Amino acid sequence: MFDNLSEKLDKALHVLKGHGQITEINVAETTKEVRRALLDADVNFKIAKEFTNKVREKALGQNVLTTLQPGQLMVKIVKDELTELMGGDAEGINLSGDPSVILMSGLQGSGKTTFSGKLANFLKKKKTKNPLLVACDVYRPAAIDQLHVVGEQIGVEVYSDRENNDPVALAKAGVAHAKANGHNVVIIDTAGRLAVDQQMMDEIASIRDAVQPQETLFVVDSMTGQDAVNTAKAFNDVLNFDGVVLTKLDGDTRGGAAISIKSVVDKPIKFIGTGEKMDAIDVFHPSRMADRILGMGDVVSLVERAQEQFDEEEARKIQKKIAKNRFGFDDFLKQIQQIKKMGSMKDLMGMIPGAGKALKGLDIDDDAFKHIEAIIYSMTPEERATPSKLNASRKKRIAKGSGRTIQEVNQLLKQFEQMSKMMKMMQGGGGKKMMQMMQN
Ligand code: GDP
Repeated sequence: MFDNLSEKLDKALHVLKGHGQITEINVAETTKEVRRALLDADVNFKIAKEFTNKVREKALGQNVLTTLQPGQLMVKIVKDELTELMGGDAEGINLSGDPSVILMSGLQGSGKTTFSGKLANFLKKKKTKNPLLVACDVYRPAAIDQLHVVGEQIGVEVYSDRENNDPVALAKAGVAHAKANGHNVVIIDTAGRLAVDQQMMDEIASIRDAVQPQETLFVVDSMTGQDAVNTAKAFNDVLNFDGVVLTKLDGDTRGGAAISIKSVVDKPIKFIGTGEKMDAIDVFHPSRMADRILGMGDVVSLVERAQEQFDEEEARKIQKKIAKNRFGFDDFLKQIQQIKKMGSMKDLMGMIPGAGKALKGLDIDDDAFKHIEAIIYSMTPEERATPSKLNASRKKRIAKGSGRTIQEVNQLLKQFEQMSKMMKMMQGGGGKKMMQMMQN
């Protein structure tokens, strides 16, 4: 996410490194580089200019006696300005209606249907919400099928009626169906076109007038940069929507749309899509995003994702097993499964401060655990439960079965052993002992 932009901003902010003082000259040089980085990221010229003017003003206005180094000070100013530009505080969605109606708008291919599913799944996880998805694309039967596939995947009901080709009537019927069947959230997926088109706009506006949604969300593909911003403006002029959903951020190395959209339409970005899977959705937090852009990671989101996947009962079971020295490879596999659910490795790495930069250029395999899994799957249940049984001939068999080398099998066993030791120490309140071990 935003790799190119992060790299360029990092270079720009390096200009001040080693300087003992903020001067007009070094600030001018830095802001010139920052502006270039923003323009390369496909940020609109006017926005980039205003941004750097503000940064310059703030930097020069700082008390020279500040305890921060000029380099650190500049990073802080850029971070604050980026946060402000992207919207300041995070804004949630309005779920006050009964049912609350959420209307999706956007061009075809922007990721509307996928996001409708992701949002339904996201809300469903909050146990008090029972969402209904409504298919209102009457022009493309495939779009209705797609929503049904998505609904099935996440276990959310989909309302559609292939006999009805009036999108307004369909949306109304969907809301009525929700009311009659105890759904407290209705997500309406509408038809998009390949380009901005008056008829499409009129149609969504009529649906909106008919169902009076609490939230009208505009979904846009962030990879389209300036086009995304222009499309947002066209939709907002007609719909006056409540918030933006930026999809495909996982493939967006530039970040221009994320940075510019708020200031152009004056509507907050509310969610981001970071992958094709149903759990690749995040609430948009401007300040966390600014941290990520500046390579500072996003530990808060990382912890939140871990918490989402955290299964208390499972954790208790594992604790017991560790205490009894019965933690085996099956448990290890389960833990890997949980980590995988948190997102792609590259995405997770980007959330660890400094890791993005350190791992730059490395091709992080999304299936980093594939080899480990192959090795474990080649073990017998008995071997998984009691790894100490793994003698030379068993290891050889496992290596052959998994298509990996003996060295890899040995390495995994060693890692497993270290991990088991560490977990046991943590359990025994031996945090101090563990710290000592890590320092050695
Ligand atoms: P719609 O026409 O607006 O309903 O768009 P779709 O939901 O059908 O999405 C179009 C394509 O984009 C599909 O192939 C999706 O899998 C893909 N897609 C949607 N959201 C994301 C995302 O956040 N990341 C990635 N990588 N792909 C996405």
